Amino acid sequence: MDAPLPEPAQATPADIPSVDRLLGLPAFASLREQHGRTQVLTALRAHLEALRARARDGELDRGALDAEVIAAAIAQRLAEASRPRLTSVLNLTGTVLHTNLGRAVLPETAVDALVAAARAPVNLEFDLAAGRRGDRDAIVEGLLTELTGAEAATVVNNNAAAVLLILAAVASRREVVLSRGELIEIGGSFRMPDIMRQANAKLVEVGTTNRTHVSDYVDAIGPRTALLLKVHTSNYAITGFTASVPVATLASLAHERGLPLAADLGSGSLVDLTEWGLPKEPTVRETVAAGADLVCFSGDKLLGGPQAGLIVGRTELIRKLKRHPLKRALRVDKLTLAALEAVLRLYRSPERLAERLTTLRWLTRPESAIRAQALRLRPIVQRAVEPAYEVTVGAMTSQIGSGALPVDELPSHGLIVTPAARRRGGLDRLEAALRALPRPIVGRVEGGALKLDLRCVDESDEDELVAAFHALGAALGSAR
Ligand SMILES: *Cc1c(COP(=O)(O)O)cnc(C)c1O
Repeated sequence: MDAPLPEPAQATPADIPSVDRLLGLPAFASLREQHGRTQVLTALRAHLEALRARARDGELDRGALDAEVIAAAIAQRLAEASRPRLTSVLNLTGTVLHTNLGRAVLPETAVDALVAAARAPVNLEFDLAAGRRGDRDAIVEGLLTELTGAEAATVVNNNAAAVLLILAAVASRREVVLSRGELIEIGGSFRMPDIMRQANAKLVEVGTTNRTHVSDYVDAIGPRTALLLKVHTSNYAITGFTASVPVATLASLAHERGLPLAADLGSGSLVDLTEWGLPKEPTVRETVAAGADLVCFSGDKLLGGPQAGLIVGRTELIRKLKRHPLKRALRVDKLTLAALEAVLRLYRSPERLAERLTTLRWLTRPESAIRAQALRLRPIVQRAVEPAYEVTVGAMTSQIGSGALPVDELPSHGLIVTPAARRRGGLDRLEAALRALPRPIVGRVEGGALKLDLRCVDESDEDELVAAFHALGAALGSAR
C-alpha cells in the first residue's frame, strides 16, 4: 500500500506575518517607492485581514503566506486601485454623439486651450483692457453673436440648465404656452413639465400630440402669459397627419401680444449641415432671424464642443438671465469657456470645419473610406478572435446620437463578429473582453452579432485600434 499523501499544509491565524516584518522586506520597498507608504500599508492590512479570515476557516494554504506571494497580491491590488475610473475608450458603437461615452470629442485646438487654462491663472473675469472686473460671458459672447446674428449671449452648464434659467427668469409665477407635440422627455429625467415646475412656471399645453395650430396658441394667451415656448423635438419624430406652427408665425403672434418667444433647439447647429450632405437641422441663425427672442442649444451635441448650454437672444432678455441668481448656480468654469471659445473660432472658417471639428469630420466621413478601413482591419481582428469567432466586413448604419436627427441614419461600414460555427464563443464573453482592455472597445450587439462601426476611428488613430486588438488576442488566447 502507498504511504498516505501528506496533508496540504494549512496555515493558522498565528502564522500570519506581521505588517512591520513584511514592510521591511525588499519586495515591499519597491512598492513603497511606487505607491507611497500609506497606500501600501492600507492594502497590506486589508490583505492580511482577508488571509486571517481564511486561516480561521481552515482554508488557507501556507503558500499564500510567502512574502513574495503577498507582495505580488498587493502590487495587483494597488495597480487596480490606481487605474483611473474615467478612461478613454474606442467608440465603435456607430453613434457619434453618444451620451454615455461623453458626447462630442473636442478638436485639438480646444484641447490645447483647455489645458492652457487649467495650468495657469487666466483673465476669466478680468477685463485686461480696462483693468477691472469683467464678465466671464464676454469670452464667447462676441463669437456667439457673430455666428448667430443675435444681439447678446450667455452660457450655462448645459442646455437643460439653459431651459431652466429661461423659464425661471422670464416666466416665474406666470404661464408658458407650449404645444402638446413638444412636451418632450430627454434621456436622464429631463422632462419639460418637471422643469416648468422647478422654475415655478405654469405650463399651458395647447393643441394635440400630432397637430397644433396657431389658433390654439391664440386661445391660450391670457393676462398671466409670460412666454411662448417652441421646443425642437429632436429625439423623436411625429410623422403622418401632423401640423406644428413654425417659429416665424409664433414669433409674429408673440410680438403682436407683447410677449417673447423662446426656442429650445436641443442640438441646434451653427451651420447648415445639408452643405455637407447631412440631414437638415434648424440652425441657430435661422431661428434668430425668424424672430425667436431667446434661443438655447447644447454645446456638446452637433456644435461639437464641451458640455454647455448656450443662450442667444435680445439684449434685455439676456441681461435678465445674467442677473438671475440661478445664473450664478449654473455658470460654467474656465475650462469649459476655454474649450468653447476655441470651438466657436473654428466656425469662423466654415470651409475648413469638416476637417478641423472632430464631430463634423466623423459625421461626414465617406462610406468608401470607412469600408477601406474595415477591409484593412479585418485580418487583424480575425487573428485576435479566432477560432471562436468569425469576422466579416459589412454595411451598417451610424447614428448622429444625442437626440439629434433621430430618424436619420448615416450609411457606414464596419466589422461584424459572429460566433464560429464549430467552436462557439459567446458574444457576452467577447464584449466583456473588449471592455476589459487597457483601452476598452465599445461596440453594439445586433441580430446575434457584435458590430464594430469604424466611423469614429480617424485613420491617424488606427494604430491604437490595432494595438487594442492585439491585446484582445492575448487576452482571449490566455483564456482559451
Ligand atoms: C438635449 C436636449 C436638451 C438637454 O440638453 P443638455 O445639454 O443635454 O442638457 C434639452 N432640450 C432638447 C430639445 C434637447 O434635444
